[in-house]
Amino acid sequence: MHELDEGIRVCVRCPLHQSRTHAVPGEGPVPAEVLFIGEAPGAKEDQFGRPFVGPSGRLLNGLLETAGLSREEVYITSCVKCRPPNNRTPHTNELNICQATWLNQQIDLLDPQIIVLLGKVAAQQVLQDARSLRQIHGAIVVRDGRRYLLTYHPAVAFRVPETKDSMEQDMTMLRELLLQPSR
Ligand code: URA
Repeated sequence: MHELDEGIRVCVRCPLHQSRTHAVPGEGPVPAEVLFIGEAPGAKEDQFGRPFVGPSGRLLNGLLETAGLSREEVYITSCVKCRPPNNRTPHTNELNICQATWLNQQIDLLDPQIIVLLGKVAAQQVLQDARSLRQIHGAIVVRDGRRYLLTYHPAVAFRVPETKDSMEQDMTMLRELLLQPSR
């Protein structure tokens, strides 16, 4: 993982490297029982080179607590590792390049029991599921022997406060899932 992190920090494979301050590989234990995948670093993440350390991170910390998890126990990363200019949505080519070069390798190395996809971009990129999260949040999808839990991106709660309740339900489900002895 250390080598992957170093590669991500100096990656120039897509245009996002041009405007970044720091790439954000992700952080957490290796291997990891639970992997959270967001969309893309924001301003604070770009400044510090660490995932979910801005306003979305504070929300994520609360959700982790609901799931009975601490930040130290889970691996947290995003679909692309460099902040898109003005926090725009990452372009398809950026997502595809970053997934093929880095995210897939991270998943293989971490070998998580469950992958939590945060938001529509992550659901669409990793599972090619373009349905709205209103329809699919809380779903567990098994693909190629891996389990995925789909939920909202924490940042949505700033715009649509009701989504926080749905995210909390999803995290309660995650907590129950992690308590099952056969997981
Ligand atoms: N949103 C993300 O998807 N990732 C981060 O690291 C921060 C905010």
